Amino acid sequence: MIDGEIESVEQEDDGSLKRIFLRDGRKLSASLFVDASGFRSELLGKTLEKAFESFHQSLFCDRAVVGGWDRRGNDHFRSSCRWLEALFRGC
Ligand SMILES: Cc1cc2nc3c(=O)[nH]c(=O)nc-3n(C[C@H](O)[C@H](O)[C@H](O)COP(=O)(O)OP(=O)(O)OC[C@H]3O[C@@H](n4cnc5c(N)ncnc54)[C@H](O)[C@@H]3O)c2cc1C
Repeated sequence: MIDGEIESVEQEDDGSLKRIFLRDGRKLSASLFVDASGFRSELLGKTLEKAFESFHQSLFCDRAVVGGWDRRGNDHFRSSCRWLEALFRGC
């Protein structure tokens, strides 16, 4: 495994990916690149300009809800059960 931050990407004449330049100066060539850079979409979005394709129609859960509450007494235990239940159901 190579650890590094992508700085720029070189493309072939046909637009396909040729080489990746890392911030530390290394250059990486490969016949297959997998873009796992999350929302930054370094290769698919920024370089290849592929439009984001949503799979929300087939997801059980397509929202994230962020919140907080005061945890006291047995509340922590109850929350943990709900959390496990949610994970089990793929939420
Ligand atoms: C606040 C918050 C809470 C969440 N809670 C949940 C939850 O409870 N349950 C759940 O299922 N999902 C949750 N999610 C969603 C979940 O985190 C994402 O769906 C998931 O992490 C996406 O995984 P990924 O591998 O596609 O991208 P990421 O996890 O974002 O990984 C992308 C990786 O690419 C790296 N990267 C980016 N740019 C470069 C670059 N130029 N060069 C090299 N590396 C690069 C990043 O450093 C990162 O390590 C949450 C998200 C957020 C923001």
